[in-house]
Amino acid sequence: MNFLANFWDNLFSAICASLMSVCAADAGLPEHLFSIDRSWPESEQHAPFGQATGVGVDSLNRVFVFHRAGREWRKPVPTETISADTVYVLDGDRGTLLDSWGSGLFTMPHGLSVDTDNNIWVTDVGSHQVHKFTPDGKLLLTLGQSGEQGSDEFHFAQPTDVAFDDDGGVYVSDGYLNTRVVKFSKDGNFLFQWGTGGDGPGQFDLPHGIATDKLGRVYVADRSNSRIQVFSIDGEFMEEWKRPHVGRPYGVDVSPSGDVFVIDGGDQPFWTKTRVRKLDGEGTLTGLVDLVFDDATPVLGHDIAIGPDGAIYVVDAWANKVQKLLPN
Ligand code: ZN
Repeated sequence: MNFLANFWDNLFSAICASLMSVCAADAGLPEHLFSIDRSWPESEQHAPFGQATGVGVDSLNRVFVFHRAGREWRKPVPTETISADTVYVLDGDRGTLLDSWGSGLFTMPHGLSVDTDNNIWVTDVGSHQVHKFTPDGKLLLTLGQSGEQGSDEFHFAQPTDVAFDDDGGVYVSDGYLNTRVVKFSKDGNFLFQWGTGGDGPGQFDLPHGIATDKLGRVYVADRSNSRIQVFSIDGEFMEEWKRPHVGRPYGVDVSPSGDVFVIDGGDQPFWTKTRVRKLDGEGTLTGLVDLVFDDATPVLGHDIAIGPDGAIYVVDAWANKVQKLLPN
């Protein structure tokens, strides 16, 4: 059943990819909702990105990109840490490199999010940990035990992403091997968790991205269930958005004006894509754009973040790129 649903979604997506303007017109969408800023980031200023898997923007419009330097995803994940810098800090306006850090800390970088105090939170799917840093890379807090996989209040199993609410609550989507969301206090104390494996309300099959909005809703990119699930900050299920236009959501973020942006990465290994989908608060599609490259580079959209000025940033784990889009 799942296979069939995915097949038809993929077929729909493939047809849309080749007939983009037609699909947009059919859906009543503006055809030129976004523009790709091809001058961003400035090139040749830093070592190339490795597999770029996490992105977040702080209130000062600094863009933090989490990448794997020369390491590539493989099983088993190597236990030695990556020796190169894995976090690049870019100026949101011009794309210049402001800083880099994160060497010797991570085995397999994954998610990156910025909290309301401009602290940087990352997940490492190699060590099963979540870390909190200052913007310049000073370690403040670690959740989870290095190299110890589990599903209790002190352990994760390949945690994927982090989100925050205005009251200091911290939400971890966990993850590739667990099927839950875990909520912590601002100081990292376990509060509660929700979710089991499955495709029913409140169940997950690879919770891969998470975000909150100003209305107190928690959005989970339930990747392998091809849906966004919406919860209260208490973990109460509110609704699901499971429609072809949601695609295979890898990452989710909410703009300052309350629009929900989803990055659809497709299905590995044959149906990958990097497609931005813009939804309103009801889950209705209001815009979409494919981020493709002229040289037919394989793509895999992996995370998305919205800047304070409304700019959209997307990281690609196969093309090893970060792209900036501006709403027209
Ligand atoms: Zn991932």
